[in-house]
Amino acid sequence: MSSLYELQAPTEWAAPPEVWSSSSLDEVGACPRRWQLLRSRWGDHERFPVRAHPAAIEGQVVHDALDRLARACGQRGNPAFGTIAFMEAAAEADFFGGFANAVADWQERLARHPRPGPPFRLRTTPQELANRAIRLFREQYRPGAGDGRAAAASVGSGAVQLAGLLRARGALSEVKLRHPSLPFLGVLDRVQLTGEGAEVVDFKCGKASEKHRTQLMRYALLWWRVTGETPTRVTAQYLDGRQSSDVGEAALVEEERSIAEAIAALTDHLSGRPGSARPGPGCAWCPVRARCDDGWALGEENARSEGRGDAELTVVGQPGPHGFLCRDGVGGEVAVVHEAAVAPLVPAVGVGQVVRVVDGVRKEKEKGKELEIRAWTEVFVGHQRADGQASRQA
Ligand code: SF4
Repeated sequence: MSSLYELQAPTEWAAPPEVWSSSSLDEVGACPRRWQLLRSRWGDHERFPVRAHPAAIEGQVVHDALDRLARACGQRGNPAFGTIAFMEAAAEADFFGGFANAVADWQERLARHPRPGPPFRLRTTPQELANRAIRLFREQYRPGAGDGRAAAASVGSGAVQLAGLLRARGALSEVKLRHPSLPFLGVLDRVQLTGEGAEVVDFKCGKASEKHRTQLMRYALLWWRVTGETPTRVTAQYLDGRQSSDVGEAALVEEERSIAEAIAALTDHLSGRPGSARPGPGCAWCPVRARCDDGWALGEENARSEGRGDAELTVVGQPGPHGFLCRDGVGGEVAVVHEAAVAPLVPAVGVGQVVRVVDGVRKEKEKGKELEIRAWTEVFVGHQRADGQASRQA
């Protein structure tokens, strides 16, 4: 079977989601094709194996830990450091133990990538990541926000009579709800009774964003449609404060209409093979850009203006142990070079073959342009040109 770098398209295309969540609406909405290509099967790979940089992975591990801790602390009204409630929150979030598990999990995933290697190992220890997370948490956390909050009863997915349960308990957590007629669900961090009625709360680390409010309105809609009772308020609880908005039925009806339209439109956008593309600034960093003709040109242009080495080239010279000669889209010669140690990582190419180099290193030499393939660079093989001349792929 062809390698990832030779496959021109998925071997099995991802189907649209059967049931949508707030995050899948946002992700597919940003670019249906990216969502589809990332979730499709590529030969031996159940999904597109993203070559994430170790620094980005470490950032993600820290963010996930902060997210879990923010949620667990938020459920307890942001208790002070060192209190029993805080220790319980840290234990529930698996804050300290979670780093070792996350690092081990990522090392395994990196080793399974079609191009593993020493540069793609996490070097930072779980303890160092924990220290980084604690420092960030201390900078943002404001103990006491939501003091006096009632302990929430965990609900899960099987609960019925939710409105009655809320009145009896005062607060519910992890409330999984599915819309009665739309293929849409969500897990509400917390629903609590206030003097005016039910308040839907979501716990976040990071900065306030409109996206969080949209998500909360979607969750308020679920609570309304499942229980028949309109929440009066939605709140995004951050580490250092909270942002609330009042909710009315008219806004929920509008939200419902918007979700129904989005699900229909996005399902349609995912029905093509490939699905619809939404080229934009994100193309420059899109993990599947080498397999997206609509976004590639824009991404290549943006990368060039930033001095990064994305390039579509046509091979015009026989490959040797240190590289091969190419022509770029305007007919200029480009020497694609690499150290001998990198050679096994470069797929076989022949004269006339179009290649897309992702994350190479551009160099202007006296004798002409050079694009260096480093250990992290990926070379995707494209179609074979009959004339061997460089021109942009259709
Ligand atoms: S390159 Fe751009 S248009 Fe193409 S899939 Fe990625 S984000 Fe979408």
